[in-house]
Amino acid sequence: MTAQPKPSWPGRTLRTRITLWYGAIIGLCLLTYSVTVGVSFNHHVERELDRRVHEDIELAARALVVENGIPSWPGGFLGKQIEEEEGGGHWVEIWDSAGNRRLVAGTFDLALPDPADGTPPGIARTLKLPTGPVRAMSESVRVAGSTFLIRAAVSELAARHQVRSLWLQLGGISLMVLVLGGMAGLALAHRLVGPLGRMAAHARRITAEQLHERLVVENAGEELEQLRDAFNATLARLEGSFGQLRRFTADASHEIRTPLTALRSVGEVALQGEKTPAEYREVIGTMLEEVDRLSRLADELLALARVEAGQTQYRFEPVDLTVLAGHVAEQLSVLAEERGQALVLEAPEEVLVEADRLALLRSLVNLIDNAIKYSAEGAPITVRVRTEADQAILEVSDHGPGIGPEHLERIFERFYRIDPSRSREMSGTGLGLSLVRLIVEAHAGRVEVESEVGDGTTFRIVLPRVRATSGAR
Ligand code: ADP
Repeated sequence: MTAQPKPSWPGRTLRTRITLWYGAIIGLCLLTYSVTVGVSFNHHVERELDRRVHEDIELAARALVVENGIPSWPGGFLGKQIEEEEGGGHWVEIWDSAGNRRLVAGTFDLALPDPADGTPPGIARTLKLPTGPVRAMSESVRVAGSTFLIRAAVSELAARHQVRSLWLQLGGISLMVLVLGGMAGLALAHRLVGPLGRMAAHARRITAEQLHERLVVENAGEELEQLRDAFNATLARLEGSFGQLRRFTADASHEIRTPLTALRSVGEVALQGEKTPAEYREVIGTMLEEVDRLSRLADELLALARVEAGQTQYRFEPVDLTVLAGHVAEQLSVLAEERGQALVLEAPEEVLVEADRLALLRSLVNLIDNAIKYSAEGAPITVRVRTEADQAILEVSDHGPGIGPEHLERIFERFYRIDPSRSREMSGTGLGLSLVRLIVEAHAGRVEVESEVGDGTTFRIVLPRVRATSGAR
């Protein structure tokens, strides 16, 4: 059964977030646009009102005629000129210096406050009257030796209405664009996130038994395709590891079963009929050999598992390969002698490496042990310690049967043997070389092998060389 994703609140889904971000960005753009347009239109309208009121004052001054101190507009002016030009909403008054209103003309009725309470001449300002707001301004003029105050006002009603309706239009359009944009954002988010959801659903269906399956997402954008490829690559690696694990488990059970079967059959045969004490001793000896093989197998399996899991704590210290090789050669010389093989050590000088002494010792024992096991009786074996530039080299050469090129890489695989029966006969577990490789690689080194069928084999452990000399063992 595959685990279902936890239900999440809408704000946590990528879809909602994309939509919200999209909407917020559109909203912010619209707001900026509307405010800019609205405010600048408002300014424009105010400037226009000022221009009109100023123009009215100029027209009134130009049309003003004063005879015997009496002002008049003989040509008449407001009813004709202004009404025709601008439409309704104009008002002009002429005040004399004594504070009396002498002339009035207007296209609408207006009751302006006394000019003495108003603003200083030359400055336009808005007056809020019961009949509606007006833009008013006054200017003093001198005609025929008399000073008069001309006061003009224009209604702001139409202009304010224009501004209000522009704001309403901007608001309406913005709302519409926001709704449409939100819907488009939702569709976009759906389109973008859809393949992700499909990928997740597909990935959830892939279990350990279906590791061969791969995610298929086409035309979903480069990033999602990269995600798909990365996921598929992980699946491929997992499939490889699972396959290896399965093979390893099968091989390991087989390896354990063989000595167990031998133990059982030897025991069963021994139980049939009476045996002499010498025969019983032989049976027990055979059984002990099998038990020995089992415990070696368990030991190597454990070592391998530890190295692989990174649980082996190496104690790195300066190790002299010459001393180490001498030590191992001495240990194994008894085995070699039993087979009439000469174990020759060529280690002329101190060669230092930084290594875990016991792990390196175990590797070298495995290589020399193999050389002894697989070479014919009497064939010499050489253990060589040398250097090459910054590399320290440990070499084990034999004159054994050699290894065919088709086996050269595979001998480092677990339980891989060229000749299984020969390996078993020699109490081999098939794990020795894989352990050697793992240990040497953990020392930043490598294992090389050169072989000629019928001529012999050379295994080489290559490690980084250290030049300091103190405390090497
Ligand atoms: P084993 O326990 O079988 O020796 P190893 O991992 O040490 O396992 O070696 C794997 C196989 O490689 C051996 O079974 C043998 O077939 C081959 N091999 C290893 N060393 C030599 C050698 N010096 N000469 C020929 N064959 C070898």
